[in-house]
Amino acid sequence: MTTTPSAPYNELAAALSAASAITILSHLRPDGDAYGSTLGLGLSLLALGKQVRIFNRDGLHSLYRFLPRAELIEKTPAVLPAGNLLVALDTSTEDRLGLADSLRPAVTVSVDWNIDHHVSNTGYGRRQLIDPSQPAAACIVTDFLAALRWPLPADAAAALYVGIMTDTGSFRHRGTSARTFDQAALLVSKGADPTELAKHCYQTVSRPRFLLQQRALANWQFELNGAFAHTTLTPADFAEFDALPEDTEGIVETGLSVSGVEVAAFFELKPDGGLKTSLRSKGRVNVSALALEFGGGGHPGAAGIGYQQDGAAARELILARLRKEFAQ
Ligand code: 5GP
Ligand code: MN
Repeated sequence: MTTTPSAPYNELAAALSAASAITILSHLRPDGDAYGSTLGLGLSLLALGKQVRIFNRDGLHSLYRFLPRAELIEKTPAVLPAGNLLVALDTSTEDRLGLADSLRPAVTVSVDWNIDHHVSNTGYGRRQLIDPSQPAAACIVTDFLAALRWPLPADAAAALYVGIMTDTGSFRHRGTSARTFDQAALLVSKGADPTELAKHCYQTVSRPRFLLQQRALANWQFELNGAFAHTTLTPADFAEFDALPEDTEGIVETGLSVSGVEVAAFFELKPDGGLKTSLRSKGRVNVSALALEFGGGGHPGAAGIGYQQDGAAARELILARLRKEFAQ
C-alpha cells in the first residue's frame, strides 16, 4: 500500500479538509464502482464530521440496496446544494454525470475534483485525480484514505470492496494487480465480508433479469470464424419480461467468455429509438479506440457507445466497423 501521500492526494486532502460540505456525484447507469466509490468516500468524510450529499441521476438500483448506508445515495435533485465542494467519481465525461437531465434550469456546473480510473477521461474538472493503472475508482479512494490515514469505518470498507470486486470482475480483469489485493485485504481487515458481499452482488438475480439474460443468450451470433460475437435486445424484450435497464449487466461478458471470441458486442435498442452498445475485448482489439470513433469511450478491454436516435442504423454502422477491424 502507498504509505506516503502523493502530491495530488495531498492537494485533494487539503480541498476536502477545507470544505465543510461536500457533494459527491457519479455516472448515470451506475454500477458497483459508481456506488461503492462514492459511498466509500462519503462515509469516510461523514466520519470526519463533514456534511455529505451523494447523488446519482438514476438514484439507487435495487440490486445495491444491501450496501450499508445505501440510503445516503439520492437521486440528483433539480438544484444542487449551494456552496458545496463538488467531487465526481468514476465518470469519464461530464455528460455522463447526467446533470443536464436533473438540474432545472439546466445550468452548467463546475466539478471541483474529477477522480477517475478511465484512460478516456476528458479532464473536465477544475482539478483531476486520474489513475488508469487502477482497475476501479474505489481503488483510488481506498489508496487515498489509507495514505491519509482517514477514517475507514466498516460500512465504507464494504462499499469500497464492492466497487473493487465488481469493476475487476471479481479480481479477474486486466489491471488487477498485487496492489488491488492489498487494497482488498485492507478493506476486509476493516470489516468488509467477501462472502456476504459476493452473495449480494452475484446470487440475488431477479426472475425478470434472469429471463432477459436468457433471451440475450439465445440471440448471440458468431461471425468471422467465431472471433466476433454479438447479441441484441429490443424494447419488446424488456417489456415481455418486465425487465429494467440495469438487468443487462453481465450480458456482454457472457459472449466474451466463449473460447475463440476476441470481441463481444451487446446492442440494446432503446424505447426512444436510441442505442446503447457495450464492447468487450480479450486484448487483441482496443475497443476503447473503436468506441471513440463513434463518440463513446471506456477502457481498451471494455468500452461503450451511446446513441440518442437512429439506433438500428447505428447498430449496422458499428457492426460494419467491427467486421472491418477483423478484416485488417
Ligand atoms: P458498459 O459497457 O459496461 O456500459 O461500459 C464499459 C465501459 O465503457 C465503462 O468503463 C464505461 O464507463 C464506458 N462507457 C460506456 N458507455 C459509454 C459512453 O457512451 N461514453 C463513454 N465515454 N464511455 C462509455
Ligand atoms: Mn469504474
